[in-house]
Amino acid sequence: MRRAVWVALLLLVSCVRNPVTGKRQLTLVSEAQEIELGQQAKAEIAQSIGLYPDERLQAYVAGIGQQLATHSERPKLPWSFQVLDDASVNAFALPGGPIFVTRGILTHLSSESELAGVLGHEIGHVTAKHSVNQMTKAQLAGLGLGLGMILSPELRQVGDLAQVAAQVLFLKYGRDDERQSDELGFKYALQQGYDVREIPQTFRTLGRVSEEAGGGRLPAWLSTHPDPGDRVIAALQRAAKVEPPQGQVRREEYLSALAGVVFGANPRQGFFVDNRFMHPDLKFQLTFPPQWKTQNAPAAVVAGSPSQDAAIQLTVAGKGSPEAAAQKFFTQEGLRAGEVSRGLVSGNPAVSGLFQAQTQQGVLEGLATFIAYNGIVYQILGLTPAGRLGNYGPLFRNTVASFEPLTDPAALNVQPARVELVKVPSEMTVEEFVAKYPSSVPAEQVVLINGLDRGQRIPAGATLKRVVGGELPRR
Ligand SMILES: [Zn+2]
Repeated sequence: MRRAVWVALLLLVSCVRNPVTGKRQLTLVSEAQEIELGQQAKAEIAQSIGLYPDERLQAYVAGIGQQLATHSERPKLPWSFQVLDDASVNAFALPGGPIFVTRGILTHLSSESELAGVLGHEIGHVTAKHSVNQMTKAQLAGLGLGLGMILSPELRQVGDLAQVAAQVLFLKYGRDDERQSDELGFKYALQQGYDVREIPQTFRTLGRVSEEAGGGRLPAWLSTHPDPGDRVIAALQRAAKVEPPQGQVRREEYLSALAGVVFGANPRQGFFVDNRFMHPDLKFQLTFPPQWKTQNAPAAVVAGSPSQDAAIQLTVAGKGSPEAAAQKFFTQEGLRAGEVSRGLVSGNPAVSGLFQAQTQQGVLEGLATFIAYNGIVYQILGLTPAGRLGNYGPLFRNTVASFEPLTDPAALNVQPARVELVKVPSEMTVEEFVAKYPSSVPAEQVVLINGLDRGQRIPAGATLKRVVGGELPRR
């Protein structure tokens, strides 16, 4: 991140009128700066998480978003609506107009009016300037941290996301902001002729999704958009006040845009079988210590010891030589390198060394290894508080030694699960549906993504979603 930009921002405290409430409010940034802030974060998020590679779906979502946004209080902002390639069930608004939805949230919605409700809610966070206020707060906190920080980005234990992206994606709005965005989103969807009676169901579904159910690398909806307490009831009351005729649902249009979309974690981006991590596209595997808690985060694969006093992190260090990557790592400020040696890991050139690092959490010790394989240098970092390297050193070394080419055809050819549409030929219950049209995910998940309840009857001719494929190879 360019620190100069942030310092400049902080010097410009001004008071501007809120476009939604009309009230004057203290803000740290002008509209031009708000836009710059958002565009910078947008680029980082798109790069670190990745956009979902489906032009048709991207255009469909963007079309609906633009229609809602250009009729909002801030029509001239550089609005953008993009689908992130992540299984988590969430949506994010950045200052000044960029909005992201995950493919995970799309698989949990069932109509265009539901999508309009979600996009409208995110637009509300921008038009009411919640996003910029949130980022400003995080920025102040971030700068405060930055002053005494010797801990280098490579040593940060919380993933490797670019700094701005990480801040934005894990921001949590306040309840008042959430209530206001719910109201605004409802208004925008209604203005564009959508059936707003779909919105309560949307919130209900999103409220039922837990972090684990999403299987993604990002937080879930409720952790960044907390329920103001009466979200579904308030949405029902709002919808009840709308005079008939009701607007459009556009269920079939939405579902046909969604057909074939990847569901859940995409194993092409790496997957675990027990504690063995395999990456079919990069063609390597690595085994973490048994019982360690593992995670495939956007830019790092991480594992934590059961007693949470040691971590191992695998990242891509770059494309040069392992020597150059090691040199860059071991010469960082605040880091003291021990003896650095060259060798081979599964026949691949590697450089490895012990080090000590002064951090805010105290002195950490670790083993850093750089392995060149297939034109990429991988970094494997084992970290633990000073004094425990005697315990963890052997585990770190075993993990490094387990790095090897992936050759199992079943693992190399693994494919993700996808959403498939089913036209129900005759009336049946939810239970009959899941029995007759099996999915590769648990029945509760199929019920959830269709916005259904157990025991509910499905009318003949209805289009529902099921999930097919995605089986992982067994060991
Ligand atoms: Zn929200």
